[in-house]
Amino acid sequence: MATRFPAPRRNNDPHASLPPEGASAPLGRPGGRRIDLLVIHCSATPDGRWLWPADVDRWHRERGFRRQGEARRAYNPDFSSLGYHWLILPNGGRPSGRHPLEVGAHARARGANHRSLGLCLVGSGRYTAAAWEALADQVAFLCDKFKIPRRFAQASNGFTGVCGHRDLSPDRDGDGVVEPHEFVKTCPGFSVADWLAGGLEPLAGHVLEAVSA
Ligand SMILES: [Zn+2]
Repeated sequence: MATRFPAPRRNNDPHASLPPEGASAPLGRPGGRRIDLLVIHCSATPDGRWLWPADVDRWHRERGFRRQGEARRAYNPDFSSLGYHWLILPNGGRPSGRHPLEVGAHARARGANHRSLGLCLVGSGRYTAAAWEALADQVAFLCDKFKIPRRFAQASNGFTGVCGHRDLSPDRDGDGVVEPHEFVKTCPGFSVADWLAGGLEPLAGHVLEAVSA
């Protein structure tokens, strides 16, 4: 059965939502900000269910997240709260939320919001081939654009690189490795370390094959 999803309505070009080359675009922070971490999330909604950025914006508004007025006026003013920089939709669309130079609201642990970009897959751990492809392309592009090492971000490298939200969980037993029993959340529902080690290919057991309406 063919997977059918609506076409994205806006900002589907991931490159269109990046600041121009050399721009400092302060957005309230002179000189912009240093970005050395990509954090992958999921929406924790049922796998295969469609989601619009406006839905996530509403949830984040209900949780009390608020964008700064200046940043909001400058970029995607329809979103008052949306904490991620991009969503990865089941059809491979990549609508943008916050501007890359705007601090997100997605990963408070380890002070990650201030130096990271947040990408949110729609689902809970199983994603369409189109979404996996979009995630790989977006991560590769952002690592190149912001000179972020394309490696798993963990304690030994100061959490610079790419990781899942759950990988930022506190290392409670202090052994330097965040182990599954220490995950405060399961987000994004798969091992980003395995995904990176496998060359950004869809992870076995995490591919959504067919979707019922
Ligand atoms: Zn998350």
